[in-house]
Amino acid sequence: MALVSAPVLRAAIVGAGPSGFYTADQLLKAGFRVDLYDLLPTPYGLVRSGVAPDHPKIKSVTRMYAKTAKHPDFRFFGGVVVGEHITREDLLERYHAVVYGVGTATDNRLGIPGEDRPGSHAATEFVAWYNGHPDFADHAFDLNGGRAVVVGNGNVAIDVARMLVLHPDELAPTDTADHAIDAFGEATVEEVVLLGRRGPAEAAFTNPELRELGELARADVIVDPADLEGVVEPEEPTARRNVEILRDYAAREPSGKSHRIVLKFLRSPVAILGEGEDGPVTGVRAVRNRLETGEDGRVRAVPTGEEEIIECGLVLRSIGYRGIPLADVPFDERRGLISNLGGRVCEDDGAPCCGEYAVGWIKRGPSGVIGTNKKDAADTVARIVEDREAGALGTPVAEATEEWLLERVPDLVTWEGWEAIDRHETETGEPLGRPRVKLVRLEHMREIASGRAPAR
Ligand code: NAP
Repeated sequence: MALVSAPVLRAAIVGAGPSGFYTADQLLKAGFRVDLYDLLPTPYGLVRSGVAPDHPKIKSVTRMYAKTAKHPDFRFFGGVVVGEHITREDLLERYHAVVYGVGTATDNRLGIPGEDRPGSHAATEFVAWYNGHPDFADHAFDLNGGRAVVVGNGNVAIDVARMLVLHPDELAPTDTADHAIDAFGEATVEEVVLLGRRGPAEAAFTNPELRELGELARADVIVDPADLEGVVEPEEPTARRNVEILRDYAAREPSGKSHRIVLKFLRSPVAILGEGEDGPVTGVRAVRNRLETGEDGRVRAVPTGEEEIIECGLVLRSIGYRGIPLADVPFDERRGLISNLGGRVCEDDGAPCCGEYAVGWIKRGPSGVIGTNKKDAADTVARIVEDREAGALGTPVAEATEEWLLERVPDLVTWEGWEAIDRHETETGEPLGRPRVKLVRLEHMREIASGRAPAR
């Protein structure tokens, strides 16, 4: 009797960020062949283009991802835009499981007058710019005013505030994009004001990030003791520690450093000011808030009507990320996420889309740290394995061959291509004492990946 072996199951993952790599690792362990697609020629998503350059330890997680990529059943396809080069249908025709781990690519909006004035930017764009994301390399940020206002009280707000006041000597040994190192070197911003709409106990900072603000070489951190009056010690440990750290800052005398980070609470911007309708930013009009606990137990900011103007030349809006639709994959516009139930992509009425899954921020929203995505990926992979056992995966009718992809994407970048880019960047950085000098032009990346340009 001839032995009939089970078909080899193939999975496509769209998005080579942390959630994509954790999913790849776990699907490989579950016996799938895995193809990981990204629209950039480079892998690692926000680890490469989001994590602050002065936090190199956080980036060392890529060593684990590179190990995953060495698995014989793993392929990387960089420079492939789903919805442009290939369709959702193309993927469903070729894979038993398609997993979307595309992250949340855009910013939330404040919805206030003046939001789009020159000098008012989403922090997501600023982060992508200083991290050398090729789509943002040509953005210009005017860093010549004396004061910048950062709206939001999360870790991204802290990252951008810190980057604005780092000493050039602190930036020099990092992988900050060269264009940003030059711009920061000439910047005249001396004060960064962080605006939180709620109070110190409600800030979304994590403790190490908030503590780091108090240890900067050339910036004092300033908190008005009045903002801490009446604050009840929160029960939640991170919030409690945040309040302790903020009390410590409020008790400090400024030491006369050249730069300042000022944390202001209970203030919401109501307009971004400037001349006429589209003159550059000259300030922020902010309203004072008081706190009110709603019936759902959530503490809300309620405007008091008392307003103040904070003069500034730059506004960075750092109020969270939001997903954007991918090809014609069902999308929940209200939440800004791919419609899914526990990782299974579903139609509006909840009917599951056979063989399609979501993972990471586009599944659950932009929260948590890099490692949060490991558990998140495990949950999605558990659903895939359940569906495999139930015979409920997709039924592909074609193979995803490299030839097929090359027809659609002549500049396709494979893992070897990325390794050539990686070598080029690290070898260029090494004599300068930097982890890498990032390539920021897609054409240049493709040349290096294909061996068309000299490797230095
Ligand atoms: P976040 O942690 O969700 O913080 C968003 C902030 O924006 C909150 O303070 C929020 O205030 C505020 N906000 C929202 N809507 C607002 C509005 N209309 N007006 C004024 N303020 C508003 O988001 P994030 O900073 O973008 O970070 C995303 C995730 O990445 C987080 O989980 C973060 O911890 C993580 N991250 C981690 C690191 C690190 O570990 N070093 C670095 C960067 C990012 P409310 O609380 O009042 O809504």
